[in-house]
Amino acid sequence: MTRRVYFDHSATTPVHPEVVEEMYRFLKDNFGNPTSLHYFGQKARKAVEEAREKVAAAIGASPAEIVFTSGGTEADNMAIHGVAYTNRNRGNHIITSAVEHHAVLNTVKALGKQGFTVTILPVDQYGMVSVEDVAAAITDKTILITIMHANNEVGTIMPIAEIGRLAREKGILFHTDAVQSFGKIPVNVDELNVDLLSISGHKIYGPKGIGALYIRKGTRWRQTLFHGGAQERLRRAGTENTPGIIGLGKAAELAMANMEKEAAYLTRLRDRLIREVTEKIDHVRLTGHPTKRLPNHASFCFEFIEGESMLLSLDLQGIAASSGSACTSGSLEPSHVLLAMGIPHEVAHGSIRITLGRDNTEEDIDYFLEVMPPIVERLRAMSPLDQETEFALSDRCNGCRASHSCHV
Ligand code: PLP
Repeated sequence: MTRRVYFDHSATTPVHPEVVEEMYRFLKDNFGNPTSLHYFGQKARKAVEEAREKVAAAIGASPAEIVFTSGGTEADNMAIHGVAYTNRNRGNHIITSAVEHHAVLNTVKALGKQGFTVTILPVDQYGMVSVEDVAAAITDKTILITIMHANNEVGTIMPIAEIGRLAREKGILFHTDAVQSFGKIPVNVDELNVDLLSISGHKIYGPKGIGALYIRKGTRWRQTLFHGGAQERLRRAGTENTPGIIGLGKAAELAMANMEKEAAYLTRLRDRLIREVTEKIDHVRLTGHPTKRLPNHASFCFEFIEGESMLLSLDLQGIAASSGSACTSGSLEPSHVLLAMGIPHEVAHGSIRITLGRDNTEEDIDYFLEVMPPIVERLRAMSPLDQETEFALSDRCNGCRASHSCHV
């Protein structure tokens, strides 16, 4: 039987058994609509409010500041749209970074077509935004800064507290996408100086299709995406996803209880993986910051190989990882994150992301280190991506326009 190793926890995580249990108990015994006034409704309401308290406690917020959403994407959209339209009379300038998730990047780009001015800040070789660049981009029309807490592709942790301090000094609202950092490193809305913050359930061993947006009390933000009922204090219309909310609450509670121990364990595995991969294999570079990175995150570029062929070969050996380029459609588009970091097209094609989780073991790392070098050797022997043909591939990539990415 093929050994199965799951190394794609930044894409999604298995649901924790205790979360499953809690959700099952709720689904079985509690089908009420939390808006209903009767016994069934009030039982559901109580469970939703308890989950809200758990999520709020996990980020140092108060429960009234938490709005449940359908996930990280909706939370990002709600944060940005809500601030942009509510503050339009004050200005129309939004600042973000070139390495944001598409949930942010495409939202600000869409606003750019509706009369807003968008500054997309560059990053350094590690994928880091500089506080000085943020300061220099601010104008008297700036109403929102949105910069992610930790990058999904390369794991780099941004200087959010410093950017938040700057935003506060200038009276500008500050949102961070904490989808990848929440549950892995401390996320406290006061320490980070944020006004709005997005999280998602399925990245923290909770269910998919549920997330939350933190909106600091007093923030000039009005719901602009949905019209409907008065749920979530008029901030998110639609009957609550009660089982999802209960699952998110439980997952957040478990993440907080285990975070410190788990981060230490995963950092040890991650550091060994990075050390041995870069020692054992030639022409490999670590992508992302060497130390300011998520504890579970290792990402590399293997020169002269396409990421997708590595992924397929790894999958045949039972190892699930992800890459920064998408060629399922037969065209290749390197990751916007790697390109923004100055990694050349042809090198960015050879990207691979290994994101560890609580069930991974030293033996999983041993297995990867055993399987990977021969895969690299074989693919390089077959690869058209030697120095002579590099340019041919860059030409092809410049010409292709795939609209999707493997990275989530
Ligand atoms: N933001 C980041 C940084 C992510 O990694 C993801 C998920 O891949 C999202 C937002 C979107 O979250 P969701 O899948 O809950 O919509």
